[in-house]
Amino acid sequence: MRRADAVALDVRDPLVGFRARFVVDPQLVYLDGNSLGMLPMAALARLSAVAGREWGERLVRAWEEGWMQLPVSIGDRIGQVALGAAPGQAVVGDSTTVCFYKLASAALDARAGRRTIVTDSENFPTDRYVLEGLARARGMSVAWGDPSVIDEDTALVAYSHVDYRSGRIAPMTLVNARAHEAGALTLWDLSHSVGAVPVALDADGADLAVGCTYKYLCAGPGAPAFMYVRRERQGELSQPIWGWLGRRDPFAMEPGYVAAEGMAGFLSGTPPVLALACVDEGARLVGEAGIGRLRAKGIALTELVIALADERLASWGVRVASPRDSAVRGAHVALAHPQARGLCDALIARGVIVDFRRPDVIRFGCSPLTTRFVDVWDAVDVMVETLREVG
Ligand SMILES: *Cc1c(COP(=O)(O)O)cnc(C)c1O
Repeated sequence: MRRADAVALDVRDPLVGFRARFVVDPQLVYLDGNSLGMLPMAALARLSAVAGREWGERLVRAWEEGWMQLPVSIGDRIGQVALGAAPGQAVVGDSTTVCFYKLASAALDARAGRRTIVTDSENFPTDRYVLEGLARARGMSVAWGDPSVIDEDTALVAYSHVDYRSGRIAPMTLVNARAHEAGALTLWDLSHSVGAVPVALDADGADLAVGCTYKYLCAGPGAPAFMYVRRERQGELSQPIWGWLGRRDPFAMEPGYVAAEGMAGFLSGTPPVLALACVDEGARLVGEAGIGRLRAKGIALTELVIALADERLASWGVRVASPRDSAVRGAHVALAHPQARGLCDALIARGVIVDFRRPDVIRFGCSPLTTRFVDVWDAVDVMVETLREVG
């Protein structure tokens, strides 16, 4: 395939116009949107409006004029555009790590007496550490492995939907069914799915989910994560951080904690308004593009990475370490090579921003709102040049 063929794919891309709505450095080939999404111009404008007009002029009155509703309204928007979740089941709260802790802890309380938590040893580090910490505090143990390790002693099954290294998509419906047969609850980390790979939380029977907003949702560094709690579970689950803003009627300032109804009861402290404004803009962009079209483009981009890797990189010892079946692959491709770390540094030095994951993987992240087919072509071309020089 020639560069002109990649350019032609961009011309035919129905989402091609979205890239112009982001702040773009034309010198850069950016394939790390799965780590930090690019900055939407709408987020810049919204930040300036929220800071200037709302914070600057309305000050504390702005809490009553809409700020306080943001966690719930933006949660509903994300649920609608990306999660297959009907309203009233998602809220934007704290960091992914803290949201994950809160929901995992609530699930363990609801299944008290059971002694194991099932997760995968390849799961994202923060998820593993949080689960290990919870297990230690409660005298439980972590059972590492695939869903075959779920049994009657399992309280909680917690997997990532899209694996952060390989990009492999877990069989959500099957895992939910197996966990429920054993009487366990499920908690999904959707950080590498939301905004790129559609999920159907309601239809697939998921109990709980969390996900990051600064990757494919482009909400900016450290933007707060969302939590999903299936409606039927909400009454049975109590999150562990009893802050005033998760309480019923918080401004009554009464003694004693009583959780607020619905998803508000999963909040803890004051919402990060500036960051939430950016989450809202990212979710709006995903909604406008349409998760179906984003998924189709993510598949097409990753298919191109794999085709070019086979054509031009395989002879240099680069191996595709992601599933070749697009049905079980998210929007990034892992390319393995023994010198992956050095190669990754060399690519970044040449303006191709990718990332390295231990022990031997370079990730090509294909953010469907912003990545062009020609970016993939150029990145592979620079990689060939680099391999030629290092031998
Ligand atoms: C990016 C990511 C996180 C991020 O957690 P933070 O609390 O925002 O640092 C968590 N889990 C997964 C699977 C991720 O990919």
